[in-house]
Amino acid sequence: LKLTKVNLHRVLSDIVLLQKNASEGKEVYLQQYFDPSIPPILGDEALLTQLFLNLIKNALEAVGNGGVVKVTSRVLSDYSMTQKGERRARMVAIDIADNGPGIDAEVLENMFTPFFTTKSQGTGLGLAICQKIVSEHRGMIKVDSDAGRGTVFTVMLPLVQ
Ligand code: ADP
Ligand code: MG
Repeated sequence: LKLTKVNLHRVLSDIVLLQKNASEGKEVYLQQYFDPSIPPILGDEALLTQLFLNLIKNALEAVGNGGVVKVTSRVLSDYSMTQKGERRARMVAIDIADNGPGIDAEVLENMFTPFFTTKSQGTGLGLAICQKIVSEHRGMIKVDSDAGRGTVFTVMLPLVQ
């Protein structure tokens, strides 16, 4: 882990810019909504790039023609007390939301397992790698999915380390 101060918005907008030109013939709307108050975080820039690239690629692959993928940053203002009475660290949350088909229960259970894929050309490694990178950064990753409505992956990373 090579830790430096990382500007998450620069990492994300670089990926968005590159991926905008990569949707093969499919018309997809890739949008970003950033909270400008979010400061740089301590992280490994190459690994964080890999993490968000994997999630954004999955979202773009999930949507059909005219699909929408939204990348949003927000601060989680969770000041709830831990059992020891300490304040919990502030986190930044990055949401990657798509309006694709959603993910059914069986896939939800297995998709973080290496080599699990539902795609004919898939490696099934993307989400396994994402989970590893998130845990190396002491963060969390969660997924909310509604059949027919789409999927939101949320990555939470500590703001102060
Ligand atoms: P791969 O993309 O090579 O299949 P991943 O580990 O990135 O491997 O994803 C595993 C599986 O999780 C995918 O094959 C797909 O079934 C499911 N999945 C991941 N992201 C999404 C998404 N945004 N919408 C629907 N299904 C998804
Ligand atoms: Mg993938």
